[in-house]
Amino acid sequence: MGHRERLSVVQAYRFALDLSPAQQRALAAHAGAARMAYNWGLERVKAVLDQRAAERSYGVCEEELTPAIGWSLPALRRSWNAAKDEVAPWWRDYSKEAYNTGLDALARALTNWAASRSGKRCGRRVGFPRFKSRRRSTPSVRFTTGAIRVEPDRQHVVLPRLGRLKLHESARKLARRLEAGTARILSATVRRDGHRWYVSFTCEVERAQRTPARPCATVGVDLGVRHLAVLSTGEPVPNPRQLEAALRKLRRISRGLSRKVAPDRRTRRDASKRWERVRGQLSRVHLRVANLRCDGLHKLTTRLAATYGTIVIEDLNVAGMLRNRRLARRIADAGFAEIRRHLAYKTQWYGSRLMVADRWYPSSKTCSGCGAVRTKLALSERTFTCTPCGLVLDRDVNAARNLAALAATVAGSGPETLNGRGADRKTPLAGLVAVKRLPGTATAGKTGTVPPQGRTSDHALTPAS
Ligand SMILES: [Zn+2]
Repeated sequence: MGHRERLSVVQAYRFALDLSPAQQRALAAHAGAARMAYNWGLERVKAVLDQRAAERSYGVCEEELTPAIGWSLPALRRSWNAAKDEVAPWWRDYSKEAYNTGLDALARALTNWAASRSGKRCGRRVGFPRFKSRRRSTPSVRFTTGAIRVEPDRQHVVLPRLGRLKLHESARKLARRLEAGTARILSATVRRDGHRWYVSFTCEVERAQRTPARPCATVGVDLGVRHLAVLSTGEPVPNPRQLEAALRKLRRISRGLSRKVAPDRRTRRDASKRWERVRGQLSRVHLRVANLRCDGLHKLTTRLAATYGTIVIEDLNVAGMLRNRRLARRIADAGFAEIRRHLAYKTQWYGSRLMVADRWYPSSKTCSGCGAVRTKLALSERTFTCTPCGLVLDRDVNAARNLAALAATVAGSGPETLNGRGADRKTPLAGLVAVKRLPGTATAGKTGTVPPQGRTSDHALTPAS
């Protein structure tokens, strides 16, 4: 056997479960215990925070305020252990991991909120945690200790307190790794998605370090709306074949559902039998759409990471785009954020590298032939036409080629351009600004082009971490 470098990664394996009604009840009860501990802790923290705020408003000085309480996981656990006999005398009925799941989620939520408020956390503001409702929250419970294993028949798993649970599918991929000693289970999370329970094992996996098939090749990927993606090689990657059909079915069933008698909590009206049945259908089609999309994305990203040495994608402002209602559904479908996340870890597995062009890089408006930048390009223009050099090319292929070319011009990699909240700043277009536009090269109101100045490498092209 040749000597190969090994790479240690954390990876999840997820399997659907086939449970008996008693097992489903046991799982739901564990998830309920987790939710109960979460709400209990939140109520306590909130009461102290509110009390302190009220005291401050009366002018009580800082030293005399009600003492603050810790919200780290150990602190929450200590206070839970002190109070559980009183607030949950039945606590012995469920695994202690259930309460830990809830308290851990609460500790994270509070830490994120505090970090966001003080500006230490990047991205969108994180609000104060809310109470978990039985209706709205996803039931889940995580086990980190105790008997967690895959049975030798690969059709069953064993979890603490819950015992042997039947899998809907074979766990052979994980079992092989466990038997070979290249995987170690760190935790197991059971959660209900729609009508089905799933178990997901978080594992530390030793993977053989691989090299992509074409280590010197670079590919630009333009994530699209009409296609899943268009590559700089000119290849369009279509959306999964059955996705459109599933979406049509989804629309039809939703229309039908709106004509049935829905439950109404204000008037205490129960849903009709037909409403319940159609809603079951709807959730199954939703799941199918999600699965098809997920499958398409995985196939694309695995192929890219295993083939090309360098992959260049654009940093798209997905949150901003989702506000556009007309395109919203389709863009959400394409799962841009998912593609980037997949590529980030798969490039690690396959030894390729992912580069992300900042979101102001005009990949669509730049001519991939001569580098001229058009000032305007309507979204409806599907073909890119360059006046200076006469290039006519599919809009998406042109954009993908620009992304690929960007990797070639940027020798090193610039530092990540982030501001305090984590939103990236626009990199100054030094090259473009320096070029003085001659009078008469572009008249007002007309689509013009900035004179070519060679591709600038001022745009932040950052290796994704
Ligand atoms: Zn051109």
